[in-house]
Amino acid sequence: MEFDSIDCMTSSDVIDDDDEIHHHNQLSSLLKSHSNNGSSNSIVSPAVHSSTTSVHELLECPVCTNSMYPPIHQCHNGHTLCSTCKTRVHNRCPTCRQELGDIRCLALEKVAESLELPCKYSSLGCPEIFPYYSKLKHEALCNFRPYNCPYAGSECTVVGGIPFLVAHLRDDHKVDMHSGCTFNHRYVKSNPREVENATWMLTVFHCYGQYFCLHFEAFQLGMAPVYMAFLRFMGDEVESRNYSYSLEVGGNGRKLIWEGTPRSIRDSHRKVRDSHDGLIIQRNMALFFSGGDRKELKLRVTGRIWKEQQNPEGGACIPNLCS
Ligand SMILES: [Zn+2]
Ligand SMILES: [Zn+2]
Ligand SMILES: [Zn+2]
Ligand SMILES: [Zn+2]
Repeated sequence: MEFDSIDCMTSSDVIDDDDEIHHHNQLSSLLKSHSNNGSSNSIVSPAVHSSTTSVHELLECPVCTNSMYPPIHQCHNGHTLCSTCKTRVHNRCPTCRQELGDIRCLALEKVAESLELPCKYSSLGCPEIFPYYSKLKHEALCNFRPYNCPYAGSECTVVGGIPFLVAHLRDDHKVDMHSGCTFNHRYVKSNPREVENATWMLTVFHCYGQYFCLHFEAFQLGMAPVYMAFLRFMGDEVESRNYSYSLEVGGNGRKLIWEGTPRSIRDSHRKVRDSHDGLIIQRNMALFFSGGDRKELKLRVTGRIWKEQQNPEGGACIPNLCS
């Protein structure tokens, strides 16, 4: 009997000890996590961060998982959903299957209004923080947003940063890669009378530590079949203005020269082509340049890329007009 009671005592003591140990552990892990964060930043940030994250989760539509913007709707039981999804669910709450009605969730809309969140491209380097409702507007234009694949021959949906896209062009599109700021390119086609819009050729040049895409293609400009060559810059518009390029094509004692600024790949290939921002060669002239019996297209396009003088003001200024 004695033993039993002792056993009993012991075991309950052990449980108490365990509880205490458990609490100690929790406390020490809390302290640890705080001191860890404290060393890098402020001690307050982890708590603020976790509450922002959970509010952010509340603002995620449970149906489509997009962020919700006013009007945010809810059912009689309080399940929320976004206005796009509301039009699709035939007046049934997707969570509890009850009739949805027309209840707005003003409280959540107000909470969203008070939130400030980092740009969704923060992992790509954007340091900006925005009120919830203006975040979308910024993200559509954020300089850190990924680029679309500049390859024009297909509807490629790949997006990413420049180094990623360069590897993608080389490995997946088998694009020619060249180093250097001058180039000399031959375009040969055996039956140039067949005008197809689909003669896309793309070469990537690596110079000044940047990447440039040289496009060459055939298309119909009005009634006239033409060839067009132009350069695009793999980076944003502002940076692209630091560079210029020239293209030259000729033969039989004639020559066409184009000088321009490479367009950013933010502008679609089609947009650049349709604005005729490049070297345009009428097919007749192209065949004349090709020599021979005009049965074969044999163009030699030479080009050069150079860096413009840096202007720290970021724009041209005529001294007399600038006060
Ligand atoms: Zn939704
Ligand atoms: Zn519901
Ligand atoms: Zn941003
Ligand atoms: Zn691609």
